Amino acid sequence: MAASSDADGEAVVTAVGAEGDAVERASPAPRKKSSTSPPRARSKPKAKAASAAPPENGSKNNNKKVVVIGGGWSGFGACLHLSRTKGVDVVLLDAAASPGTGLMKSKGGRDVEPGTRGFWYDYPNINALTDALGISPFTDYLTSGFWEKDATSAKLITEAPVFSAERLKLPTIIGQYFSTAPRFYNLPLADRISLIPFLKDWLLFNKDDDTFETYDLMTSREMFRRSGLSVNAMNKFISPTLAVGLFAPPEDLSAAVVLELLDFYALRTTASFDVRWSKGPIAKSIFGPLVAKIESNGGKIQGSSFVSRVETKDDGTVELEVLVGSKDKAKKQVVKADAVVFATSIKGMKSIVASSPALGSRPEFARINSLRSIDAIATKLWFEGSIPTRFPANVVIGDDVGRLGMSAHTYFAIPGGDDDEEGPGEDVTAISSDFYGSTALLPYSDEEIVDIALDSITKCDRAFKDAKLVDTAVLRFPGAVTHFSPGSHKNRPSQRTSHPSLFIAGDYVKGRLNGALGLSQERAYVSGLHAANLVLTERLGLGDGAKAEILETADDELHVKVARELAVGLDARRIRD
Ligand SMILES: Cc1cc2nc3c(=O)[nH]c(=O)nc-3n(C[C@H](O)[C@H](O)[C@H](O)COP(=O)(O)OP(=O)(O)OC[C@H]3O[C@@H](n4cnc5c(N)ncnc54)[C@H](O)[C@@H]3O)c2cc1C
Repeated sequence: MAASSDADGEAVVTAVGAEGDAVERASPAPRKKSSTSPPRARSKPKAKAASAAPPENGSKNNNKKVVVIGGGWSGFGACLHLSRTKGVDVVLLDAAASPGTGLMKSKGGRDVEPGTRGFWYDYPNINALTDALGISPFTDYLTSGFWEKDATSAKLITEAPVFSAERLKLPTIIGQYFSTAPRFYNLPLADRISLIPFLKDWLLFNKDDDTFETYDLMTSREMFRRSGLSVNAMNKFISPTLAVGLFAPPEDLSAAVVLELLDFYALRTTASFDVRWSKGPIAKSIFGPLVAKIESNGGKIQGSSFVSRVETKDDGTVELEVLVGSKDKAKKQVVKADAVVFATSIKGMKSIVASSPALGSRPEFARINSLRSIDAIATKLWFEGSIPTRFPANVVIGDDVGRLGMSAHTYFAIPGGDDDEEGPGEDVTAISSDFYGSTALLPYSDEEIVDIALDSITKCDRAFKDAKLVDTAVLRFPGAVTHFSPGSHKNRPSQRTSHPSLFIAGDYVKGRLNGALGLSQERAYVSGLHAANLVLTERLGLGDGAKAEILETADDELHVKVARELAVGLDARRIRD
């Protein structure tokens, strides 16, 4: 989530050692700590703020210098692999004071992280990363509840079981059908049957580029309507699923991306929908150890560094204008590099393109300006005492939620994570509640947003009815999430650009990557590894041996492959007839 800075500071020119290592300084680099730094994570080690003026920026060696812009999953993926490559000096610049590891504070001073992140069953590269780091940050796979609430109460529509725990391992589709059949409490059989015809779209949408583009131009609501989905199934099942998976309603989502989401998160294998959670903030449980690993490899993580402009030079190198330090006192620094990976999210990339004619004149960067992003609000509520919830993860729909312009919102009570966060001996129950596509809610006061979350929690879990609220946090993130709107595919960039030194990573890039699709931490992380591979092989001329290993997600099961071939064959015949 990008921070922004418009500070106009004293110019400081520092080379991140492009060829020749020229280091030009108009004035000493700032040494003061950022005064507006958000509270830092307790995890070690902490990222070095650029204001410490690391002498490494002008290191005297012949190493190639790569700058990664953005400290999220994609930037850390790129930085990790580049940091372990001999002959490469990598620095990650991020606008946040403590990239990846910073936490915000509640009104009462408790730690809080924006958004609750689920880790789905088929995240092989993130799983390999946590194994390599020697950490066990995840809960077990946990069940989720889907609720519909009205003015007085809430009823359970369905619950998502842990499919991988089912004793009988059935093929995909058949397995999900038998596991969920007894668990749809408030969605009649006729509505569930109306879900079946859209499976034809799932089998066909990816058959070739033209078909994919056709689906991309269509809204997912239109696709489901054409397939005969009932209004009830749309409103009570598909809409909430898409609100949670892609943060937007079906009428505002590309049918192609919705089919990708359902493919990756629900249909590829029976267990695709199984999800587990980070025990506590990922800033502490995953990014803390990851930052430590990158730094121990010799990579540099530099916070409070907002990249405001990019220039390309005739010799193929790149010069970045970076605003270093807190917004009101930022100093301008010029950083040179042999290659740059943009890992900034759409919002961050648009702001860099807008101020960089060298990028704006290239069609693939200019087209990013047509991409949209979605607003999100994350809340956390602390209640006195230990209060049990029926499900650790909950999706809430209903007219109240719809009136606020959203198809659904969520609340979570993830077990095992908050002990350390609340401090020893504190007997509280922490619930996070996230609102996606929440533009209409942005102007609401914190108290009003907390009331909306409370209304859902108390109606779904009656044990909270008389619970005493002891602390709250409300965090707003305008434009933080990629919006896969209809027709957006043609404007999404590839990871390779028309400039040989510039590469792009993030969940919005085009391409199949390792088969992780939709909005996902796995996809963002893999896009970072892939960007690093492109830098090493295509820009720096290293062989394939220098590439990071990227693990594939599950392949289609045999019966799906056969069904796909049949569907494609029949479809071709239909068109010829
Ligand atoms: C509320 C929420 C809940 C989510 N839940 C899940 C989930 O349950 N499971 C799941 O798999 N995925 C989830 N996602 C999606 C997933 O988190 C994202 O797809 C992924 O984190 C994107 O990573 P990224 O590195 O591409 O971008 P980001 O994490 O957005 O990182 C971009 C970074 O770039 C920095 N930046 C931007 N502009 C500049 C600049 N000019 N100069 C310097 N730095 C800059 C920002 O400070 C930021 O740190 C969720 C997302 C959100 C917002």
